[in-house]
Amino acid sequence: MPMFIDTSPPGQCIFCRLVSGDIPSAKVYEDALTIAFMDLGQVNPGHVLVATRRHAATLLDITAEEAAAVMQTAQRVARAVQAVFDPPGLTLLQANGREGDQTVFHFHLHVVPRHGGDGIALSWPRKEPGAEVLRGYAERLRAVLVTA
Ligand SMILES: [Zn+2]
Repeated sequence: MPMFIDTSPPGQCIFCRLVSGDIPSAKVYEDALTIAFMDLGQVNPGHVLVATRRHAATLLDITAEEAAAVMQTAQRVARAVQAVFDPPGLTLLQANGREGDQTVFHFHLHVVPRHGGDGIALSWPRKEPGAEVLRGYAERLRAVLVTA
């Protein structure tokens, strides 16, 4: 994972400065709620970040409207990436918290064109606890789930 970590306060983080124009970016798209720009690291050519315009650290801090807008922008960008770079695959990655591998604490979603053998990997250690445990997890979640 990238070593760059930005935990600046609201309004001062690298993405806020990019949204305000304080620092330059290779901008792809912007609307009222989102901004899309080329990731400096370019894991593969065409790697774009979609961020909320407003500073909010994680998925748990953005509004339902921002969440919807980010996914709509991601799909719009993905279509452009497909048209221009024509990758055989595409991965969306959204990280929250240090343990979730988030490095810039301003909500963003990666749109990553993928190719066979491109070196990107996410370890996925299956635990398979069984149906009874799954029903228990689901019951606990339903009990606190907030519907829109
Ligand atoms: Zn910010």
